[in-house]
Amino acid sequence: MEGVSFPPLSRFAVCCGTHGNEMTGVYMYRHLQKQKVENITVTTILSNPRAVDACKRYIDIDLNRCFTNALLCTAITDSSPYELRRAQEIDAEVGPKGSDEAVDLLCDLHNTTSNMGLCVMYNSSDCVAMHIFKHLKSKITSVPVRAICSDEPISEGYALDSVGKHGLSLEVGPQPNGVVRADNFNVITEAFNHIIEWLQQFNSGATFEGGVEDVYKMTEKVDYPRDLNTNEITAAVHPQLQDNDFKLLRTGDPIFLSFDGETLRHKGRELYPFFVNECAYYEKKVAFILGEKVTVAFPSISVTKN
Ligand SMILES: [Zn+2]
Repeated sequence: MEGVSFPPLSRFAVCCGTHGNEMTGVYMYRHLQKQKVENITVTTILSNPRAVDACKRYIDIDLNRCFTNALLCTAITDSSPYELRRAQEIDAEVGPKGSDEAVDLLCDLHNTTSNMGLCVMYNSSDCVAMHIFKHLKSKITSVPVRAICSDEPISEGYALDSVGKHGLSLEVGPQPNGVVRADNFNVITEAFNHIIEWLQQFNSGATFEGGVEDVYKMTEKVDYPRDLNTNEITAAVHPQLQDNDFKLLRTGDPIFLSFDGETLRHKGRELYPFFVNECAYYEKKVAFILGEKVTVAFPSISVTKN
């Protein structure tokens, strides 16, 4: 695979509190105000301050679904959701998405209530994000480091990390909403420092060798079993699946335990579950996500020499 070069990646935005009850980012925002970084311009954004004040995921709508090109172009009126307004303000500050003015790298910080360790989420076309994942995986040993890739066109990318020229979201968990845990905070602090170190090495001319890595790609979402009349859930995630994110789910493995004590089993092909019993996904009618593990090849990268 042929090597790829990019101009220096010197403008780095870190977005925190995109979901207002995910506290690692909220406290990282305050902590980062005191950090000094050499040769990289770091912009820190408190993405959803009203939701942070209320310690809620969002006020009107999920901010991290508002960054498609279509929504960023929607006219704002008095009745627009607060988060749509914030999305456009953030796009003006660190974007505009898809433009030359956009920051070189945007990292959005999240927590999950699922037992997922550190997960790097990014678009599969972004080989800078891929290299940063590889770097974090080689450096961070306190938790498993994995990647979840999406294949959608960037213009349809709804997540905040799609605003930067390169972008990734970091999910760390398990952590309950509204709670800050030192272990997770340390993982994100470490990740931030390793990303800075990687950017500095890249900008000073290092070549990062290509290779292959295993990543996960979502194939389906699984809802909770529901009562056909009331639509209420009738089962919880099975104890054998709970906390076993990324453990291969085989046909016949237990997935739900009904409130009547009945075990429901996985019927489809073998896949990997993640975001198992994520608190924020109850309203999205998702009990867990299933995905496949794929091996992706990525090129060597280096800074463009002029
Ligand atoms: Zn989040």
